[in-house]
Amino acid sequence: METGETNVGNACDHAHHEEAGEEIIKVRERLSHIRHKLIVMSGKGGVGKSSVAAYLAIGLGRLGNRVGLLDVDFHGPSIPRMLGISGMFRFSEKEQALMPHEYEDHLKVVSIECLLEDRDAAVIWRGPMKHGVIRQFISEVDWGELDYLVIDSPPGTGDEPLSVAQTIEGTRAVIVTTPQEIALADVRKSINFCHHLAMPIVGLVENMSGYVCPHCMQESPLFGRGGGRRTAEQMNVHFLGALPFDPRLVEASDLGHTLTEREKASPFTLALSNFVSEVIQRSEALAEEQHP
Ligand code: ADP
Repeated sequence: METGETNVGNACDHAHHEEAGEEIIKVRERLSHIRHKLIVMSGKGGVGKSSVAAYLAIGLGRLGNRVGLLDVDFHGPSIPRMLGISGMFRFSEKEQALMPHEYEDHLKVVSIECLLEDRDAAVIWRGPMKHGVIRQFISEVDWGELDYLVIDSPPGTGDEPLSVAQTIEGTRAVIVTTPQEIALADVRKSINFCHHLAMPIVGLVENMSGYVCPHCMQESPLFGRGGGRRTAEQMNVHFLGALPFDPRLVEASDLGHTLTEREKASPFTLALSNFVSEVIQRSEALAEEQHP
């Protein structure tokens, strides 16, 4: 009896191993078509991590890069709401794969929200489930050829960034903070987390660094200024720039759209375009360092 059970157990284990093995091969295959993988992280919530991830992806796409945006913020996926996207993935019989939403010409989006039946329901995910879902978002989704995959993960240093780092080989981190000391203390934990996992850091960006008056477009300090740059210097991390607080951004994301070309000349969009260029330069430099 015992022997029988053990054999069944072994057969099951074997099948699971084979399945996991096949999926790992599929993940590698998909990843081989993605040049730069960026995980956007933050020490704490509310610093604008999802907004920075979305605008980074949009900015990269508008420069002609082929971009994927993957939202794995299990507990508060905000990308679909911000971009005004809803609905499930489309399954392509031909490709035998899930097709991401085509948001703009060069931008494809997939969010964990597509798997939630009720947008507002709280879902309890265990660590291994999250790991499996993240792996499937790579293996089962037809991302095609991408220059950049931008991944929005929940704040902190929990299961999700860990799973991303373990599943998506070659991922590099973009860390978002605000200038206040309390946010900076948490960001140091994120930096140490990356060091611990030997995950290269593209750099640190300071969000909400000044207030842009929607009438006169003048910028004034909001939570103090320069904390992001100082922390980056202290921790020996590249500083990617500062994005001001722009009230029109809140309005736009509540309405489910993003700031457009019309706002090109605003301090936020100018700062964004510098930040996007920094990310491109740093990503290329890191790729060169790793595979000269
Ligand atoms: P997180 O992902 O860190 O929780 P979000 O990106 O969801 O943060 O942003 C939280 C809120 O702050 C949202 O309402 C968003 O529109 C707003 N926000 C983020 N960055 C800015 C900014 N630079 N200017 C104005 N509002 C911003």
